[in-house]
Amino acid sequence: GDTKASNFLRQIIENDLDRGTYASRRWAGSPGDAAHQAGGQPDPAKIRTRFPPEPNGYLHVGHAKSICLNFGLARDYGGICHLRFDDTNPEKESTEFVNSIIDAVQWLGFTWDANGTRHLYQASDYFDFMYRAAEALIERGHAYVDEQSADEMRANRGDFTTPGKNSPFRDRTPAENLARFRAMRDGQLADGAAVLRAKIDMASPNINLRDPAIYRIRRATHHHTGDRWCIYPMYTYAHPIEDALEQITHSICTLEFEDQRPFYDWLLERLTEAGLLASPPPRQYEFARLNLTYVITSKRKLAQLVNEQRVSGWDDPRMPTIVGLRRRGYTPESIQLFAERIGVTKSDSWIDYSVLEGCLREDLENKAHRAMAVLDPVKLVMTNWAEVFGSDGHTEDCTQPALPHSAIAEGQTPPPERVFKIGREVWIEREDFEEVPPKGYKRLFPGNIVRLKGGYVIECTGCAKDADGRVTEVHAKVIAGTKSGTPGADSVKAKAAITWVGVADGVAAEVRLYDRLFSDPHPDAGGKDFLAALNPNSLKVVQAWVEPSLANARPDDKFQFERHGYFVADRVDHGVGGKAVFNRVTGLKDSWGK
Ligand code: ATP
Ligand code: MG
Ligand code: MG
Repeated sequence: GDTKASNFLRQIIENDLDRGTYASRRWAGSPGDAAHQAGGQPDPAKIRTRFPPEPNGYLHVGHAKSICLNFGLARDYGGICHLRFDDTNPEKESTEFVNSIIDAVQWLGFTWDANGTRHLYQASDYFDFMYRAAEALIERGHAYVDEQSADEMRANRGDFTTPGKNSPFRDRTPAENLARFRAMRDGQLADGAAVLRAKIDMASPNINLRDPAIYRIRRATHHHTGDRWCIYPMYTYAHPIEDALEQITHSICTLEFEDQRPFYDWLLERLTEAGLLASPPPRQYEFARLNLTYVITSKRKLAQLVNEQRVSGWDDPRMPTIVGLRRRGYTPESIQLFAERIGVTKSDSWIDYSVLEGCLREDLENKAHRAMAVLDPVKLVMTNWAEVFGSDGHTEDCTQPALPHSAIAEGQTPPPERVFKIGREVWIEREDFEEVPPKGYKRLFPGNIVRLKGGYVIECTGCAKDADGRVTEVHAKVIAGTKSGTPGADSVKAKAAITWVGVADGVAAEVRLYDRLFSDPHPDAGGKDFLAALNPNSLKVVQAWVEPSLANARPDDKFQFERHGYFVADRVDHGVGGKAVFNRVTGLKDSWGK
């Protein structure tokens, strides 16, 4: 029918909805099966997608793409997206990771609750069903227990140019295979002594169809099923079954699984024939994984950065993990926007990191309150202050809008203005004074006139220096009657407006200036040593002064520090012991390499 589908997956889904592909899905199992518990009654009107992480690490920005895609499709087509822990591999999984994944998906703004049901599953709940399905395959002559050594099995698999060789165990009878499989299950065989293999075709040009292993012996404690099992299903066997039991319609995965699709289909067909699964089965579709410049997304390598203390933890603001992005100051909206903007395709490519930063700026532009902060402070003294205002201790309130006019939607009430004090002494950026100005320099130098933004116009008169010639104070004269927002504001023309923070009411803050963790755009491409690509300047900590409106910032609050970029009050350290700590999320525009 008519389609406005913006990508190939939407196209497929719209076609399936038009044709009612899943409207006639029939359930073959008996009530009380794990299948029924998982999927409930078939609900033909909808699509079901799933996000199936393995709980063996923290999620990263690549997973965020998959989350936004799967949950987004379900949302847009009135379907349901399941969160499923693919916890069939006992060794690397833990409850810590399970909880971190739940947090990450929720934080990104998605829910697996639909129609009063919690669609949160774990693959290990299906171990009984998977075992029964394996026996059914054996009984129907579709699987056999192979007791070749691992080396023999590898040698007999062949390669891209050579067909494989049949195992000497391949022609065992179903009864013999059943007995051996039960012996595997009952712990009578050592780890690695045998595997259960699907019996397909050792000469297939697709190596994944050369009798893939579907069960192995592994005496390992599972974080959920404990020591109940000493055999565990292989991922390629478990995954299609998980999808089918949950009545997933569109099983969306990354391109490297394309060669697995024939096995996915083979297995579900065999189990449907055996009366174990509903029909039609789910279908697998592949999309290109996210590759982001300056970023690595391998969990193993990310774990290495944490374990070797190259970063402060999984939530270090330089990490591409979702907890890291969150602590850095990225918002769920900016990540959703990013996922939408990069779209889904069927060919691999690199996305430039600046695309992610651009999405953050776009999200915060109209949301983040403005504030002034001085990151590299030097004191400016207005030497004629007492002459003009009667005493050195005199201060005056200045005001500035929290958001620019352009950020206020029609009919929306602007937030209260920021109030801060100007007095005889203020902090300015060290780079805003030059004793001998370079050509074109418009800020402070002796004889030049500038405005202290939101305050008074001043004329620079000179500076004081220490024995090493380093400027310790900048001197200026305040010009009476020029305060911003008063009738005389424009009576004296200023060459520039500079940001500042009053000594009287400025708040001391630690500011963490983060940069990219790697200085190479492809840190782990082509087997490179990614540790050698670490950017030695990825974190610089400065002691700054910030305006008093920031004294009330709560952890996670985001701001635009005028001229410096977007900052967030650190969600872990801000406020601890009364200390203010801000992280730089990103600069105001893409300045990388400039
Ligand atoms: P890693 O290779 O880092 O260990 P993984 O792919 O093994 O990651 P899973 O927990 O299996 O991690 O992934 C869950 C889902 O996230 C999968 O459906 C996978 O396709 C998807 N995913 C993982 N990495 C990316 C990526 N870079 N881009 C898009 N989707 C991804
Ligand atoms: Mg995986
Ligand atoms: Mg992987």
